[in-house]
Amino acid sequence: METFKGTKIVNGIAIGKIKIYRAPVYEISEDLVSDIAAEIERYNKARAKVQADQLALCEKEKAAGHEETAGIFDAHAAMLDDDDVIDEACKEILSEGHSAEYAVSEGCKAAEEMFLNMEDEYFRARSADVVDLKNSMLDVLFGADTSSLQGTEPAILVAEDLAPSETVKLDKSLLLGLVTRLGSSNSHTAILARSMNWPTLIQCHDIADDWDGKFAILDGYNSCIYIDPDQKTIDELSAKQAEDKAREEKLKELKGQPSVTLDGRKVKLYANIGGPKDVKAVIENDAEGVGLFRSEFVYLNSKDDPTEEAQFQAYKQVLEGLAPRMVIIRTCDIGADKTIDYMHLDKEDNPALGYRAVRICLTRPDFFKRQLRALLRASAFGNLGIMFPMIISRWEVVKCKEILAECRKELEAEGVQIGKYEIGIMIETPAAALCADELAEEVDFFSLGTNDLTQYTCAIDRQSANLEPFANTHHPAVLRLIRETIEAGHRHNTWVGICGELGADPTLTEDFLKWGVDELSVNPKSILPLRGNVRSVDLSKFKTESPTPKAEAKPEAPKPEVKAEAPKPKGFFGRLFG
Ligand code: PEP
Ligand code: MG
Repeated sequence: METFKGTKIVNGIAIGKIKIYRAPVYEISEDLVSDIAAEIERYNKARAKVQADQLALCEKEKAAGHEETAGIFDAHAAMLDDDDVIDEACKEILSEGHSAEYAVSEGCKAAEEMFLNMEDEYFRARSADVVDLKNSMLDVLFGADTSSLQGTEPAILVAEDLAPSETVKLDKSLLLGLVTRLGSSNSHTAILARSMNWPTLIQCHDIADDWDGKFAILDGYNSCIYIDPDQKTIDELSAKQAEDKAREEKLKELKGQPSVTLDGRKVKLYANIGGPKDVKAVIENDAEGVGLFRSEFVYLNSKDDPTEEAQFQAYKQVLEGLAPRMVIIRTCDIGADKTIDYMHLDKEDNPALGYRAVRICLTRPDFFKRQLRALLRASAFGNLGIMFPMIISRWEVVKCKEILAECRKELEAEGVQIGKYEIGIMIETPAAALCADELAEEVDFFSLGTNDLTQYTCAIDRQSANLEPFANTHHPAVLRLIRETIEAGHRHNTWVGICGELGADPTLTEDFLKWGVDELSVNPKSILPLRGNVRSVDLSKFKTESPTPKAEAKPEAPKPEVKAEAPKPKGFFGRLFG
């Protein structure tokens, strides 16, 4: 038996034969052609055929209820529009007298490099989409038959990498698991694998041609693949796989059940989402609300600064689609790892400690007001929570609320109907956690952003793979800040949730409940497993410990706007608001 490591994207066990997939390799000549017009026509036909194929895939995925995947193909079709980056680059090469194949190959290479040179990880990952479109156009130009990647038997598919259009061509009934040598956790293949829940390993560098046809076990739990496993490993992992299947079936029974401990303590289980396309997953996984709508994805998915109307439509769609569930929309958290060209942000030495989130919003009031107006307008269509990220000081919260009140006044004067909403902040900096008593006086709720809270408390860059050996998601300092924030919130009747990744960590559920957490907001797929955890906890055994005060119900109406003078900030912000 040999063991090879990779990076897991999805947990789970796959057992079976390996099928290696090799993408076709084409010989492309650099020679000039004699009939340029004929090549342009061949190119246009190939582009139109691939664009039509992408739209057909989009419709197929939509019909199957896979909104996220459908969105990928819709975006691919748009990338092939006349005069878009790819088309422009290809046409330039065609005009020099090259063949359609050469123009596609070189033109797409230029577009791929453009994406690869972008700072933002999300946009860098889009280079893989360009490669996918290039390969599809070359397949058409070379007349290749790409209808089947997998053969006819169920298998663990092993590939260099898989493009989204290759991934959706897979026959799911024959796919046991997926292993690739390349790929990133932000790639579309990873997104697809997650949404389909296939056991998946990426970055498995030791993939070898002679694996083809061998018996193997993909062990997502231990991030590895065993080639020719011994009987003991087969027996152990077969039992684990059977356990997983039984647990998955059992979890479905939890739909519609209350999220309550054995001794009767209720907790709200909400979902984290990135936009309207995720509404379906919220409902399917029976989330009781949305605890974090990362609104910056509305900005990241837009070519230009989104208008108030575009934002209003996105927020309204989610609020209406999920009413009467609560939907907490976090105001734009751009900056750090999420950069956007049209924002023209300066390059910084320490972006995570830099100009991001409310720091941008408070210094660009017109930009901020567009979002706040959109949120207030959307409040009439559901049950809204407005949440401000990256808070470190009380005056920031006061200022955010003042600008919100200003927008409200403007909209009321325009005769716009505004619904009820709660106001909250992310507690994701040690400063906010340590000043939680003071901050709680300003808001209805806190949501602990444990991803950033861990990064800032432990001085561990959350993006750095090199710091993995030093990272401890259960660092006692972080856990203490979480507990003390919950207690501080409750002293002021401010309810407290957790929306960072730690909220879904099953080994911490009992502690969080013991400390009195009111809400856990997690990836939709984690809702039912988490409900199962909650329902197995018995807090009565901790009764002898000093009890954490419980939050009392807050009045539903928003708090009256606090007109208290914000303490004068010093330095940079002082000059802005002083
Ligand atoms: C967090 O920091 O924990 C959080 C939920 O926000 P994000 O991951 O978007 O920074
Ligand atoms: Mg954060």
